Amino acid sequence: MPELPEVETIRRQLAPRLVGRRLEELEVLDPRWCAPLAPAEVADAVRGRRIEALGRRGKYLLWGLEDDVHLVTHLRMTGTLLYDAPSTPAHTRVRFRLGDGHELLFVDPRRFGTGTVLLGGDALDAHLAARLGVEPLEPGFTAQHLAALARGRRAPVKAFLLDQRRVAGIGNIYADEALHGAGIHPLRPAGALTRGQVAALRDAVVAALEAGIEAKGATIDDFRDPEGAHGSFQDAFQVHRRAGEPCPACGAPVVKFTVAGRGTYACERCQRRPRPRRAA
Ligand SMILES: [Zn+2]
Repeated sequence: MPELPEVETIRRQLAPRLVGRRLEELEVLDPRWCAPLAPAEVADAVRGRRIEALGRRGKYLLWGLEDDVHLVTHLRMTGTLLYDAPSTPAHTRVRFRLGDGHELLFVDPRRFGTGTVLLGGDALDAHLAARLGVEPLEPGFTAQHLAALARGRRAPVKAFLLDQRRVAGIGNIYADEALHGAGIHPLRPAGALTRGQVAALRDAVVAALEAGIEAKGATIDDFRDPEGAHGSFQDAFQVHRRAGEPCPACGAPVVKFTVAGRGTYACERCQRRPRPRRAA
């Protein structure tokens, strides 16, 4: 699933091609994409409007249209956006017809991707605030803020990092990489981190996300950028998807286990497993 760095890569590639153009027509081929809104409702709201900005919040791509109309899209598991594709692939769910004859296709075999329209900045802010916590590459993401979010949380720190309502944009890859970078075991309860560990985790989250953006994202599963190219962050993984291979920091084998239902990778020499708590 695309995470913050992959969505940011898409945003950076599309923005120069979209901003300033008109969204002439939005053709929704699969009504599930914008449910509960009807395809015609969404198409009518955006038709002919100039694209003033292409933003991102967490894993959402935000289309800022003329007259304070906002289109909010999420790629979810298998969604890709293809710019001027030579043909229309199977599983094309939405066609964005742009001015000057260009077009963008949203292709999504698993059909979990979503789109919605919000009228006015207040409606947009409320929509995002209900779903997303702090933006980790913004100045508000401090060690102090992270400590406040984690306080009292018994959930494993990995599950805590994956909760979009606390910190936005982190998924399975960047959670594993950040926890390894900070030397924290994924099963340690979030509320049990020391002040030093919280500070290390904050820095490791930022470092992992920035390295991911620098590498134009990671290409596993179906992620690719709007021109069909692939990112290279998968070549820089320290632990994610490297079970049995040596930890780059200490040489111990990387192990795989499940946390919060997700395949999780760690070095249990660098990331000390918490001792099981005795039942009270
Ligand atoms: Zn190690």
